[in-house]
Amino acid sequence: MDFRFTTEEEKLRQEVCDFLKKEVTPELIAEVAEYCGGAGPVFGRQLLRKMGARGWLCPTWPKKYGGIESSEMVGFIIRDEMTYAGAPVSLVGATMAGPTILRFGSDELKIEYLPRLARGEIDMALGYTEPQAGSDLAALELRADDKLATTTMERGEVNAEENGDYFLLNGQKMFNTHAHFVEYHWLGARTDPSNPKRHRGISLMVVDLKSPGVTIRNMATIAGWKTNEVFYDNVKVPKKNLVGEKNRGFYYIMTALDFERMFPVGGFQRIFDELVKYVKKTKCDGKPLSDDPVIRQKLAETAIELEAARLLYYQLAYMLDKGEVPNYQSSMQKMFATETAHRLADVATQVMGPRGQLQRGSKWAPLNGEAELHYRWGFIETVYAGTSEIMRNIIALRGLGLPLPF
Ligand SMILES: Cc1cc2nc3c(=O)[nH]c(=O)nc-3n(C[C@H](O)[C@H](O)[C@H](O)COP(=O)(O)OP(=O)(O)OC[C@H]3O[C@@H](n4cnc5c(N)ncnc54)[C@H](O)[C@@H]3O)c2cc1C
Repeated sequence: MDFRFTTEEEKLRQEVCDFLKKEVTPELIAEVAEYCGGAGPVFGRQLLRKMGARGWLCPTWPKKYGGIESSEMVGFIIRDEMTYAGAPVSLVGATMAGPTILRFGSDELKIEYLPRLARGEIDMALGYTEPQAGSDLAALELRADDKLATTTMERGEVNAEENGDYFLLNGQKMFNTHAHFVEYHWLGARTDPSNPKRHRGISLMVVDLKSPGVTIRNMATIAGWKTNEVFYDNVKVPKKNLVGEKNRGFYYIMTALDFERMFPVGGFQRIFDELVKYVKKTKCDGKPLSDDPVIRQKLAETAIELEAARLLYYQLAYMLDKGEVPNYQSSMQKMFATETAHRLADVATQVMGPRGQLQRGSKWAPLNGEAELHYRWGFIETVYAGTSEIMRNIIALRGLGLPLPF
């Protein structure tokens, strides 16, 4: 097996890398941290629009939707370079919702959303989790009802807005990151509460977050950025915003989650490269840190883990390019990459001693506080997009074929 990029891929990688060196500023990096790894309203959006103009945001998509019809490998390379440079890591519309619309959405939905996503003009927030539905997503209760419209029709009081063209949404979502600054909600809602098979009563839809009746309330996270609770009070959502078939949403969400569980390793690699430089140039009690055998061992172990996480990442691109849909393989990569990142931040803060706990902005913070920030952020990465325990369950069930324990 050849583990190198082709000459064309390498050329593109270098081009993206050179572009990002010019475009990624300290202001953008600060905004990415403030806006939960996403493209914030000012510098992040500017960058995404520039990347969109080159076809680099959604490179695999058909040209008519703003792509350049590239291989998946090209898309993976671009995202890896973006994270290495400190650009936004979480591109919900471009990498999770968009590919799911491409697979299952109507032509109307594709035309309405894909070109704007590919140009970097809009983005979406993931609306899966609810207070009682996280790992057990099939327990979600937010209602999307079209019965009210039917009743109105039965009474003969049909008007232009309430003639069955809308779902009426009521309920609550929780931990919906990016919802306070993006345009749309990628939302799972219950459309058939009577179905005893819970996962068969869920639909997936795109909701305008500016709709009347939507209330967004911030929640603080350990990483310093905010996620959100989102409340729906009689919110009207056009039925044309349904993704695929009604009541099949759970299956589409599972596909979207597989796309989400593909974590570029570039951002972690950058911290590691900086850490190695730090160890080479820093002395403790008059001795170079690089002489310390424990530090050498820890760095060597981390280097191996990062290499393995990267290979798992590019394996996903390879599978997609062969027409296969990664499933438990995405869970393997997500779990291993995020746990590696967490261990890396742990190693970095240990190597740097007490100063490793200083935050960004302190002149005494090594690596400008990156390790400290990612020590806190790392906890979250092993939770969102599915916890490490759930990833292990998926690998055991779907990867190894172990039967369900109940
Ligand atoms: C900062 C942050 C941002 C987030 N952003 C988003 C977002 O943008 N959109 C969104 O929809 N969601 C988001 N989430 C939600 C996230 O996906 C859920 O928190 C996660 O899936 C776990 O669900 P839960 O919190 O309900 O925990 P629970 O499901 O209640 O789990 C609690 C614990 O039990 C374990 N557990 C549960 N079931 C099993 C099982 N069957 N086997 C073994 N262990 C199990 C879990 O691993 C966990 O350790 C975010 C969460 C956080 C913390």
